[in-house]
Amino acid sequence: MTTQTAIRIDGKATALAVREDVAARVARLKDLGVFPGLTVVLVGEDPASQVYVRNKDKAASGAGFVVDTKKLSEKTTQAELLAVIRSLNEDAKVHGILVQLPLPKGLDEGEVVRAISPAKDVDGLHPENVAALVMGGDGLVPCTPAGCIELCDRYGIDLKGKRAVVVGRSMLVGKPIAQLLLARHATVTIAHSRTVDLKAVCLEADVIVAAVGVAKLVKGDWIKPGAVVLDVGINRGEDGKLVGDVDFAAASENAGYITPVPGGVGPMTIAMLLGNTATAAARIAGVEA
Ligand code: NAD
Repeated sequence: MTTQTAIRIDGKATALAVREDVAARVARLKDLGVFPGLTVVLVGEDPASQVYVRNKDKAASGAGFVVDTKKLSEKTTQAELLAVIRSLNEDAKVHGILVQLPLPKGLDEGEVVRAISPAKDVDGLHPENVAALVMGGDGLVPCTPAGCIELCDRYGIDLKGKRAVVVGRSMLVGKPIAQLLLARHATVTIAHSRTVDLKAVCLEADVIVAAVGVAKLVKGDWIKPGAVVLDVGINRGEDGKLVGDVDFAAASENAGYITPVPGGVGPMTIAMLLGNTATAAARIAGVEA
């Protein structure tokens, strides 16, 4: 029975607000003589990656960053890519380095990520930043998980003491969001493809983060009444439209808050990337902004 209609979390508007805040930080940095620079490295011709990189470039330029996109051929070798990263590490004009993943077959992503200076690793994937996340340091935090927390903060959702269930255990989303929820004093369960009775696990959650990549995996009757539902999934439905990991219409009848797909968590990723780049620039320059 329909008892409740969830508050729809507007990721587009929230991302815009974050981007405006970042633009103000960039303006302060410039006043201090720091011109924050972001370099995006794109290897190969993957069409989705090209779109992502174009969007990042546009958003970063719009917020006042000096943006450079290094487009490298599909045939780039590991040694050549590592040499590019080393030169960016040493370039004082570059404060943020982002290597667009996935890389073409044959290139070792792990080695590439480890080659990026942790201070410039605006994706927050370098082991030093991962360690900071786990150990409570102040490293750079992966953008999509950081975006989920930012949405909660800006909607006044208190995570302390809440039971949180993260569905998905990837290094990019599931694991880091679990750490961030833990840092906010939630009681966190990480569910995954081998979890037994996922429905029962989800039904315990005050906060559900779905980061799986399976369209509408999380059903409406898996949601405890009033729960916060953050849908990270981006899937292509049979009709060609984007759809999340949560059955949005059915879940909206039980949830207290819910993010749509598109227009929920997605737009936050680039906004948080810009925030990380401003943070990296301020830290490298040794100024407050
Ligand atoms: P991934 O494939 O690396 O990880 C998926 C995780 O889901 C795995 O840990 C796996 O154990 C779990 N899983 C798979 N099938 C499952 C099932 N049936 N039940 C429970 N768990 C299951 O994916 P990822 O990189 O973490 O991305 C997850 C989703 O989030 C994808 O749809 C991706 O496109 C999207 N994504 C969105 C953004 C964004 O909003 N900007 C960023 C990153 C990823």
